[in-house]
Amino acid sequence: MPTGSELPPALLANRPAAPLAPGPAALAAQPPLLVSACLLGVACNHRGEASPSPAVAALGAEHRLVPVCPETLGGLPTPRPAAEIQPDGTVRTASGEDVTAAYRAGAEAAVALARALGARSAVLKARSPSCGCHVVYDGSFSGARVPGAGLTAAALAAAGVTVRDEEDVAGVAR
Ligand code: SF4
Repeated sequence: MPTGSELPPALLANRPAAPLAPGPAALAAQPPLLVSACLLGVACNHRGEASPSPAVAALGAEHRLVPVCPETLGGLPTPRPAAEIQPDGTVRTASGEDVTAAYRAGAEAAVALARALGARSAVLKARSPSCGCHVVYDGSFSGARVPGAGLTAAALAAAGVTVRDEEDVAGVAR
């Protein structure tokens, strides 16, 4: 077996600078972790932007990260109008359009995905009407917040999945 210094220059040039990523078998052995896709860099929020979180991405060292965007799974386009959970439990845009069915469909799809994977935990985007885990906007589109969870976070929790947000992962004080 040749040492590194004995390898032909063409092979040396192709050697990875960093350690190899885990192979498929090693990845499959890691516990699945459902993650809001926008936290992993997918530009899927209502503005068509991502909210990448290095702290969440770092969980990939010990978990099989599975990106999920409930709102797009529910059939909504990107970008899309912002929506908030109303006091009556419906989800509406600022113009009053009722988008509750799409939010519910996304929540059901996320729960189905968690069950299919056997995922026991999820890291979700803070304050989203789908993914928020602790507080959400109050429905007035004023920036005011109320205690509560988004539809997907609530559905996952009801299905026995432990949910937390990117601020929990990063240790942000509340
Ligand atoms: S639904 Fe969740 S994953 Fe999709 S953009 Fe909103 S916060 Fe991110």
